[in-house]
Amino acid sequence: MVAQSSERTPAQRLLEVLGPVDQFHNQEDLGDFGMPTRSSMEDMLDPVAHTDPSRRVGPLEKIHVFWFAGMSCDGCTVSVTGAQSPSVESLLLGAHPGLPQVVLHHPVVNVESGPKYMRPHELAVQGKLDAPYAIVLEGSITDETIALETGGYWAGQGEEPWGPDGAMRTVTTDEWIARLAPGAAASIAIGTCATWGGIPSADGNPTGAMSMMDFLGKDYRSAFGLPVVNVPGCAPIGDNFTETVAAILYFLQGYGPLPEFDDLGRPAWLFGETVHRHCVRGAYYEEGSYAEEFGDKECLVEIGCWGPVVNCNITSRGAINHAGGCMNAGGACIGCTMPGFPDKFTPFYKTPPGSKVSTTASRLLGGVIRPMRLYTNAHLNREVRWDLHKQTPSGWAREKSEPTTLSEIGHKFYDKFRRSTDTGKNTKTPAWGKRDEWTTKREPATEARLPGGERRDSGGE
Ligand code: SF4
Ligand code: SF4
Repeated sequence: MVAQSSERTPAQRLLEVLGPVDQFHNQEDLGDFGMPTRSSMEDMLDPVAHTDPSRRVGPLEKIHVFWFAGMSCDGCTVSVTGAQSPSVESLLLGAHPGLPQVVLHHPVVNVESGPKYMRPHELAVQGKLDAPYAIVLEGSITDETIALETGGYWAGQGEEPWGPDGAMRTVTTDEWIARLAPGAAASIAIGTCATWGGIPSADGNPTGAMSMMDFLGKDYRSAFGLPVVNVPGCAPIGDNFTETVAAILYFLQGYGPLPEFDDLGRPAWLFGETVHRHCVRGAYYEEGSYAEEFGDKECLVEIGCWGPVVNCNITSRGAINHAGGCMNAGGACIGCTMPGFPDKFTPFYKTPPGSKVSTTASRLLGGVIRPMRLYTNAHLNREVRWDLHKQTPSGWAREKSEPTTLSEIGHKFYDKFRRSTDTGKNTKTPAWGKRDEWTTKREPATEARLPGGERRDSGGE
């Protein structure tokens, strides 16, 4: 049943305007159509892929993945090509036991071009593909009904004979998504533009840009029953995406449970924590030490970091190959993974007003905690023997001052208190197991035994 006008999703509205399609390229007429490789990526990879049926351990031998770009900068593609665990290459070669081989159809990385590239898309629309397929969207969806009013379009991919009387027309990204999403095993939005709208949907945009979720609507379910899966980030961490794809594929293959997603369709195990909780600068925040300009080592909150209220794992996972990442590399969090980005985070690089409360509290607490930690840290940087000798035998520290009497008394009390419940240690002696003759003023023993047990005069008397 077609929903009432006010309830129709943007995808339904677009398809109502465009109508059904039933004409496709005649492949025999097309020939090679200028394809430099004379081959498709699937054909090129087949001989080296791990597709031996005798080694297959699940119902799916392969799965097609159609990658579309809406209002996008291709940054998501760049991120994903750098993914390591798992890598795109390993997915394309079917190298993971239990996972189907991924047959990727990507407008940037595939070797085939023109109508040959579009052919599997046509087969998917017709329901004639030789395997299930998933769709991936990078970049936001535009409201093509706005562009249609003037006969144009915002973002498209390929031409199909879907115009009046079979005339060729550019097929917009929106149209591909609207036609392919219902039959897809999974629909995955990658990057903040596709997941929430992102920069193209910021205040003042003329395109009506929106997310894949907004476009397909709340009731959308894939052919395997999944709502839209969202892997945000601008650009996202490539591993976040490939790991999510692998987890979904294990589920589709029947080898794993449905991975845990949060109520916005994000992989919960990747986006369940704030970036602040794993930030390499977190201890500076706690101690009330804040950077005044970029390049300082302290917490960046006062120069615009939103990390405490942003769901993101880049500080623990790194940007590429577990290296880099915003605060690790000196950058403040501007909330790029969040649905409210960018409008709710601007102007960038200004202190988030709400952080005043916690930074003031941290400053007050840090004013007490920091000196106490420095005091204990100085004590822990001394071996017990040096305390007994009252000297640090380091050639690097000739000018190093020894602890004051007051400081020593404090440490002694602290050590006594700390060891009071440690029954396995001798808490009575200050020597803590060090050899007395080295740690007290007593003269060394006058006799010593050689290794063979023979006594010798040590020369002491
Ligand atoms: S730099 Fe940002 S994320 Fe890191 S501790 Fe400071 S506020 Fe938190
Ligand atoms: S730390 Fe902030 S700016 Fe950096 S990737 Fe995460 S959400 Fe984006």
